[in-house]
Amino acid sequence: MEDVQHISILGSTGSVGTSTLDVVRRHSTQYRVDTLTAHTQIELLHSQILEFKPRVVVVADAQRAQALRDLLSDSSSVDIRYGPAALADVAADERSPTVMSAIVGAAGLVPTLAAVQAGKKVLIANKEPLVMTGDLFMQTAHKAGATVLPIDSEHNAIFQCLPSDQSLSGVAKLHLTASGGPFLGREWSSLSGMTASQACAHPNWSMGPKISVDSATMMNKGLELIEASALFSITPDRINIVVHPQSIIHSLVEYVDGSFLAQLGSPDMKIPIAHALAWPSRCESGAQTLSLSAISRLDFHEPDLANIPCLALAIQAAKAGGLAPIVLNAANEIAVDAFLNDKIMFTYIPVLIEAALEQFSGPVAQDVEAVLNIDNEVRRWCEGRLSSVTQSSRQAQL
Ligand code: NAD
Ligand code: MG
Repeated sequence: MEDVQHISILGSTGSVGTSTLDVVRRHSTQYRVDTLTAHTQIELLHSQILEFKPRVVVVADAQRAQALRDLLSDSSSVDIRYGPAALADVAADERSPTVMSAIVGAAGLVPTLAAVQAGKKVLIANKEPLVMTGDLFMQTAHKAGATVLPIDSEHNAIFQCLPSDQSLSGVAKLHLTASGGPFLGREWSSLSGMTASQACAHPNWSMGPKISVDSATMMNKGLELIEASALFSITPDRINIVVHPQSIIHSLVEYVDGSFLAQLGSPDMKIPIAHALAWPSRCESGAQTLSLSAISRLDFHEPDLANIPCLALAIQAAKAGGLAPIVLNAANEIAVDAFLNDKIMFTYIPVLIEAALEQFSGPVAQDVEAVLNIDNEVRRWCEGRLSSVTQSSRQAQL
């Protein structure tokens, strides 16, 4: 019998986190949940604790930790911790050699790196840390002997289609597929009145709000290009983006002999999650099987970059390198949050990002501290800029 895998799920209450628990639930003799972390959804975390009985959980702050204690019976032995330092601690704890990194945004950087530095098997859904730290992240993983397994469906597809040693031997190009999101085919200038719920209504995937907005602007594909460049040590000019509205082919590797290898599957994150959990073996994911005859056709076309400003900015940042990916990511997180909170229009998102990219530039950051400093500086600058925009637009409405 195989050994039981002890796993920590960072961001267990999110879309990827709950899908991970769905897969784990199917294989309860093989996987044991050691750690769960959530930011604010205490009731959902409470029900996860009752079902999976983790050793330790982490929440955002002391108030939420108390709210969780109030929900749990006195006989519960779960260790309740809170705050960013506790997150990094549990990520590095050797009692769980496997870590699912499924926090959204830059908040996942420090805990994900802590897991990598501890030399663990790290399943990476949280793309923003890879965008921010790029080669630094992969060098750290290499030095620590960590195994990095991509969960983002495109990167997981590429991982499956590359040679088994993950080398680029014989590889000509990578092709990232993009669904195009809910506004595919629409003129960018016609999207100013789009609401958060319209932007989050993805035609194929069910995801958290931030990545849903990123899919609607197609910034998600730009972040994925930077992510792929770091993960697979390949320059951005060898990564092609192709729009494929059905989301059936999750990405492709093109070889020098003209062969294209693709990975296909239903648009369900349980597939890459099950792949990475069981790797190098396989386990059932619980996702719906593809019916090729029901699909009957697959469409592909080039993205029209002139009409997709966020994707154009991300490609520009990927090619520029240096600080540009950190600036792009930080400005995007601030802009998406402001849009989700009804403070800016959908079409203002790329305006803020472009302004930030013009404001900040420089050579690549040498360590994580430098990355976090520039990330902070860009966020403060963007917030200042947004408060003047929201003030003037409020005045305009009076
Ligand atoms: P989500 O919003 O559904 O969940 C985010 C999780 O992170 C929640 O558990 C939340 O409690 C936690 N969290 C949020 N802010 C936090 C903070 N400041 N500190 C600690 N924890 C915090 O997000 P999601 O859709 O599951 O996406 C998670 C990550 O995976 C993102 O980086 C996203 O880009 C990536 N990803 C998601 C999908 C998908 O299908 N959802 C696909 C590919 C990649
Ligand atoms: Mg993806």
